[in-house]
Amino acid sequence: MHGRDDPVRLAVEAGGLYVVATPIGNLGDLSPRARAVLGAVDWIAAEDTRVTRKLFAHANDVVPRGRMLALHAHNERAQGERIVALLQSGATVALVSDAGTPAISDPGAAVVHAARDAGGKVFAVPGPNAAIAALSVSGLALDTFTFCGFLPSTGSARRSAIETLRGAPGALVFYESPHRVVECIDDLCNGLGGARPVVIARELTKLFESVHRCRLDEAAAWLAADADHRRGEFVLIVDAPGQAPAAADIETERVLVELLAELPVSRAAHVAARVCGVDRAHAYRLALALKKR
Ligand code: SAM
Repeated sequence: MHGRDDPVRLAVEAGGLYVVATPIGNLGDLSPRARAVLGAVDWIAAEDTRVTRKLFAHANDVVPRGRMLALHAHNERAQGERIVALLQSGATVALVSDAGTPAISDPGAAVVHAARDAGGKVFAVPGPNAAIAALSVSGLALDTFTFCGFLPSTGSARRSAIETLRGAPGALVFYESPHRVVECIDDLCNGLGGARPVVIARELTKLFESVHRCRLDEAAAWLAADADHRRGEFVLIVDAPGQAPAAADIETERVLVELLAELPVSRAAHVAARVCGVDRAHAYRLALALKKR
């Protein structure tokens, strides 16, 4: 019987393909079950075997007994056939990418598809994912969101892709590299409108992790203000169109942030209402929301 109820039992089922999430920075995020599965399977299909060996070297309680095979964007179809043959012979296989959850902007989907088509058993060993981690610390209301992965790398294709997302309901979640984050923010601002709030989540779970929220038309200045703001790995979340606050709210929030550091909520709301010329009850609601955040 599969040990789904027991996270650390060495539990792999003959012929099972295990899709295992690995850390996006902090090695402590490799789950006990991921460790157990990686130590137990016959084969480990890794996006880059060197990266995965490094992970094993650091996670010193994982002693893999399985052999490794490389599975990347260029050989996924061919390796898929090999992996299906292994599974059909009763072997157990773990699928990992360099970081995070395989098949999410990473190789893996074609192998899972092939294994399922062949009637194989596929099990999720869930864990780190940069998009979900960023959403969880964004503070945005997230009843609906669209995961967009990486936008196209060339300017015109990127702008057309953004155009198609303009009317999408809910927040939009993007992956971006440090080389393109400035252009990407520029195109998002022009394509979606500068008033939409954006959350820039960098280096999550790592030493220089930061999460910054501002309007899209303020993001370029924030990136330009400090070279560190442009370093590392990024998740960008653009808030839902309907939830973009009015310019007056953004100004009031900015004033409230300063006041709340010094004053109780009601006093801060009173002063902010006077300074910004907004209704006192409205300023109080904004202050309460900020306090909760
Ligand atoms: N499969 C991975 C996952 O589950 O998140 C994503 C792989 S994708 C090739 C890599 C991208 O994920 C990076 O370019 C960046 O946009 C995002 N990413 C990965 N680690 C991150 C981190 N620690 N902080 C912020 N973004 C990260």
